[in-house]
Amino acid sequence: MGKMMKGFAMLGIGKVGWIEKEVPKCGPLDAIVRPLAIAICTSDVHTVYEGAIGDRHNMILGHEGCGEIVEVGSEVKDFKPGDRVLVPAITPDWNSLEAQAGYSMHSGGMLAGWKFSNFKDGVFSEYFHVNDADGNLALIPDGMTVEEACILSDMVPTGFHAVELADVQFGDSVLVIGIGAVGLMSVAGASLRGASRIIAVGTRPVCINAAKGYGATDFISYKDGSIEDQVMELTGGKGVDRVCIAGGDVSTFEAAIKSLKPGGRIGSVNYLGSGDFVNIPRTEWGCGMGHKQILTGLMPGGRLRMEKLSSLVASGRLDVKPEITHVFHGWDHCAEALELMRDKPKDLIKPVVIPD
Ligand code: NDP
Ligand code: ZN
Repeated sequence: MGKMMKGFAMLGIGKVGWIEKEVPKCGPLDAIVRPLAIAICTSDVHTVYEGAIGDRHNMILGHEGCGEIVEVGSEVKDFKPGDRVLVPAITPDWNSLEAQAGYSMHSGGMLAGWKFSNFKDGVFSEYFHVNDADGNLALIPDGMTVEEACILSDMVPTGFHAVELADVQFGDSVLVIGIGAVGLMSVAGASLRGASRIIAVGTRPVCINAAKGYGATDFISYKDGSIEDQVMELTGGKGVDRVCIAGGDVSTFEAAIKSLKPGGRIGSVNYLGSGDFVNIPRTEWGCGMGHKQILTGLMPGGRLRMEKLSSLVASGRLDVKPEITHVFHGWDHCAEALELMRDKPKDLIKPVVIPD
């Protein structure tokens, strides 16, 4: 048996705890990384408490973090032990046919680019394995804190992906449904893309404040009546050009379709943790002829995306600090941080744990 390590794992639906496993082996193209910081994601909550990807046992959790490389495979060219690296939540196999077709996140099968805490153990452990290190890792830019680096794993690339899917253009009016850590990055991304009006849907005061800072111009509470009625009131009955979805559930698509102008586009990155079907309202969808497009997707990962998005932070064009509301020191706080993410207190956006 090889060297052992501790990891914070899903033991079954609704159950978590620390387990011992062997330190993962490093293949020729891979890296073994020691986390410098990790972040809890709402997806971890869907995984553990809703059993969204099935009843997993002894699977180490987590897909958001940054770290220091402790080992690289013999074929790795650009990284070495001691390098401090950004680690994307999605780590595709870059030589796969799906990646060649432009859908690296589905390399090896649907959603199979999402490996951490899905197809293999995640990053909430003393060491974790990264496939295709040259294709997936990126150096943490000078001056970037480890907390900020964690936000680049998933929140920036996912929130921005909703904006890419919705294809936000200069001067567009954009509805962002959900302004948690992901949706806030959709607000920031829509601002960077030149949206003229950004209507944000959410209620947590800390999120509303952050959304203002990222460029949201109007606010709607989904608790104060239907989203579509409030959008129509704000837009004089016209609706919006684009919708980004980063919150809600299967029923949210109905509000999005009803809020959209003909020819508009919906970009959803929401993880639908429950419900069997998504209903599309036939009439407001133009009886199928309204040119209202719905695009949904898992965010793309990989090194180039990490380098580009981290350059926005390093250059000062994007400030991710408002995302980080809770910082814990010590592995012992993993369970507390996960419960916080589940319970979503009013002052929470994103919890980060620094192992120390
Ligand atoms: P949060 O729970 O922090 O934020 C959700 C937001 O949606 C909050 O603003 C919340 O409002 C709002 N909301 C809740 N219920 C409704 C509703 N019924 N109608 C409209 N808005 C609602 O989540 P995160 O920002 O962390 O994550 C957002 C989603 O993105 C999750 O489903 C997550 O799993 C998914 N995700 C997807 C990824 C991908 O690659 N596609 C990757 C990572 C995450 P309030 O202010 O009241 O809390
Ligand atoms: Zn995540």
